[in-house]
Amino acid sequence: MKHLAQPLLALLLVCVPAVPSAAVAAPPPLPEAELVPGGVALLTVEGPADQAPRVTFEDKRVLVVRAADHWLAVVGIPLSQPPGPAVARVQDGTSAGRALSFQVTDKQYTVQRLTVAPGKVDLSAPDLARVNKEQPHIHAAMATYSDALPATLQLLPPVAGVRSSSYGSRRVFNNEARNPHSGMDIAADLGTPIHAAADARVLDTGDYFFNGNTVILDHGHGFLTMYCHLSEIGVHPGEEVRAGAVIGKVGATGRVTGPHLHFGVALNTTFVDPALFLPPPPPPPPATHEPTG
Ligand code: ZN
Repeated sequence: MKHLAQPLLALLLVCVPAVPSAAVAAPPPLPEAELVPGGVALLTVEGPADQAPRVTFEDKRVLVVRAADHWLAVVGIPLSQPPGPAVARVQDGTSAGRALSFQVTDKQYTVQRLTVAPGKVDLSAPDLARVNKEQPHIHAAMATYSDALPATLQLLPPVAGVRSSSYGSRRVFNNEARNPHSGMDIAADLGTPIHAAADARVLDTGDYFFNGNTVILDHGHGFLTMYCHLSEIGVHPGEEVRAGAVIGKVGATGRVTGPHLHFGVALNTTFVDPALFLPPPPPPPPATHEPTG
């Protein structure tokens, strides 16, 4: 019987019907939708296949992909978005554009109290000057909307390690309230290789006051990933990288409590919950210390 298995398998392979060539567009693999502040909305937009609609949210250009017989706007919802009705706009020749309404549900994020070096919270004048110079540069990079359409919106975990669920948590550093956490912290040892979460072009690298050594990857259409606190940066701006390529090493640079990777995912210039783009995490090991920053 064993000998029969192989020819039978070959026959089965031959008999698999060919995929019809008629253009029923399959969308790139998509993130999980979650209509909350910090989540992602997938909104249907009707329109001809040969003309991608131009969609904006809060005046920022939105990623749009073709799915079967319609378009899908993949909207990043800012953490600052109030719960309730929200409206994206489809450019249709009118000044306001056609409204694409959706409903944002409230989500309660936790409060996280962290202790870091005092100089990383109450900034000296030179540090403040440095931050004031760096922030516009980082914001400009994050506002990039390039032409190449991402092949996928599902990401590879950039490092193996325990993922925090602290995205969105309100941060209190040394008893002083600061901006909510805009990414996912993944615990990993110093020097652990960090991998590109998807095919990309390296948009920016730098050593920044809060983020430490940083790499920003551009996956196209405003879909960006950010890797912070690196001990070493392994790529240069303009370089093309494939999914899984090593782009640097885990470190503890910038405002941190210990070595880890801060992983940010952005759509339409807003950082959203990276968990929506990643495969489910492996079961957690017994209690671990989880450094953050
Ligand atoms: Zn972080």
